[in-house]
Amino acid sequence: MGPSEIGDRIAAVRERIDAACAAAGRDPREVRLLLATKTLDADRVLDAVRAGADLLGENRVQELVAKGPALAELEHRPEVHLIGHLQSNKVNAALRWADCLESVDSLDLAERIAARCAAADRTLDVMLQVNTSGEPSKFGASPEDAPELAVQVAALPGLRLRGFMTIGANTPDERLVRASYARLREIRDAVLASGAPGTDTARELSMGMSRDLEQAIAEGATIVRVGTAVFGSRQ
Ligand SMILES: *Cc1c(COP(=O)(O)O)cnc(C)c1O
Repeated sequence: MGPSEIGDRIAAVRERIDAACAAAGRDPREVRLLLATKTLDADRVLDAVRAGADLLGENRVQELVAKGPALAELEHRPEVHLIGHLQSNKVNAALRWADCLESVDSLDLAERIAARCAAADRTLDVMLQVNTSGEPSKFGASPEDAPELAVQVAALPGLRLRGFMTIGANTPDERLVRASYARLREIRDAVLASGAPGTDTARELSMGMSRDLEQAIAEGATIVRVGTAVFGSRQ
């Protein structure tokens, strides 16, 4: 697939986003498209950026490190988020190449990141990943623990809590998928309403993928993470 086809597919996904926003009575400017670039080589990722992608997500720190230098050379460097599980021994590398870590799911991990940020005298954007579907294969804090954990993370120096991330229920049952997205929105709203220090920036809802971004937007998504619909199915 060449750059122009990637551009066409990005445009088609953007049309789906705009239509879903219209159906939900939302301003389409409230929803950003993050391209999930796991397993793609750096040249394909650069094609996507040239086609207009300004927000990318990687699952593995190893891939962040491999593609980071090529992206850093660009005049208009895209924003890069880590959307996969972060092992605590990889925090330094993640900090070097990611603008936001969406997969923070424990106080221990958040404290480690905060300590590294303090040592480097910088601030980093993070999101709290919540396992809203309860599927045992998924990472993320439990919905019950998430509000208190968010307040604790938001209070850590060096971290700016930007919002919440979830992976929707893996089922064809649309009601269950929507319920998992509604759950994340309720958690965000409760945390914002707490007024606790540092929580006022926790507004983003990163949820929805190729197959279900419409449901996520209906429940308030501000970032949808799309891979397959732009790059085709992965090997
Ligand atoms: C791969 C991935 C996506 C994108 O999924 P598609 O079905 O390919 O659109 C979104 N979020 C996460 C965390 C992913 O790993």
